[in-house]
Amino acid sequence: MIDEKPVREASLRLPAGCAVPDCGPLTGRAHPESPHPYRLPFERDRARIIHARAFRRLAGKTQVFTHRYSDHFRSRLTHTMEVAQIARTVARTLGLNDDLAESLALVHDIGHPPFGHAGERALDEALRGCGLRFDHNLHALRIVEHFESRYAEFRGLNLTLGVREGIIKHSRDYSAAQHPELNEYFLDQRPPLEAQLIDLVDEIAYLTADFDDGFEAKILSLEETRAGVRLFEEFYAPMRSRFSGSAEKLVFNEALKRMLNALVDDLIAETRRRVEWTGARTLEDIRNAPERLAAFSPQTEDLRMEAKRYLYAHLYNSPELARDHEEAAQVIAALFQAWVADPALLPPAHTARIAEEGAPRVVADYIAGMTDQYTFNHYEASTSTRT
Ligand code: MG
Repeated sequence: MIDEKPVREASLRLPAGCAVPDCGPLTGRAHPESPHPYRLPFERDRARIIHARAFRRLAGKTQVFTHRYSDHFRSRLTHTMEVAQIARTVARTLGLNDDLAESLALVHDIGHPPFGHAGERALDEALRGCGLRFDHNLHALRIVEHFESRYAEFRGLNLTLGVREGIIKHSRDYSAAQHPELNEYFLDQRPPLEAQLIDLVDEIAYLTADFDDGFEAKILSLEETRAGVRLFEEFYAPMRSRFSGSAEKLVFNEALKRMLNALVDDLIAETRRRVEWTGARTLEDIRNAPERLAAFSPQTEDLRMEAKRYLYAHLYNSPELARDHEEAAQVIAALFQAWVADPALLPPAHTARIAEEGAPRVVADYIAGMTDQYTFNHYEASTSTRT
């Protein structure tokens, strides 16, 4: 039975000038290349990202749950695929450049270290001890500009300016005074809507996925979630009545699917409302708007924040996941210290960069690129050498 109204896509489209065009300055590359006979610049970037080694490694990196739990929970790669498919839907519905949005979604987590956010915190803490910081957006830019090695004539993937700007700016702004090295990325202006959307689509994807995996892992309780998360209960209660004879997990799935759809609908409608309200008709207008125009409505933002706080309290900071977080912190801190103390233990391609960038940064780059398992293997090898 079909119970959903068809979306009237045309009525949701933004003025055509709001989209990033498939030609012009944002399709420029650091090393000029001839146009492809049948693929557009952002389509080529999407292919380069998917073929990158750092992209393949996302399969072995934790999103929230390590493989200790289950092989069918999200990895950082499958999370990335979920973000990409939602981003494409939102961008296409609004009439934006869906190839650019999809490329940005596919690359948005490429700079994440092993072991999820616990790994990122541990690496940042280790670098702070040396007066440096770890930032996954800046690291992602280093990956696509320097570390990926596929072409004879240059380092990196030679991605378009539009994709590189989105890598840096999709989730936060950087001050031009603190980051003069990023001056080609229009730091004093908003990013295009295709980039602004990615952060919010990422929120939709991980919020819903983490409820799903959290229940499967039996860390989240259905009754507590119904009582503590209005955004979930709003869809769960009617599904419970409608599918009263169905298995609990199937009713849960029906509710979660509707919750995801409602967040996507709200993001599309509110972004369109804000573009209309500011009168933006061109990319320049989007860039010079007083604030980012991609957003959830205030009511939905409240509900989303409540759901997120709930996940922090009951899942991300739960005692069940604490063991993985402690292990991640211990492994990363130990490897970082061992390699900074004796950089000769690093592979030669990395030791060659120490004179220019210093051992702490080079060691952090090396660790950030690893999968969970590869990091463990190094840790086990280092501890067995010591004993
Ligand atoms: Mg993400």
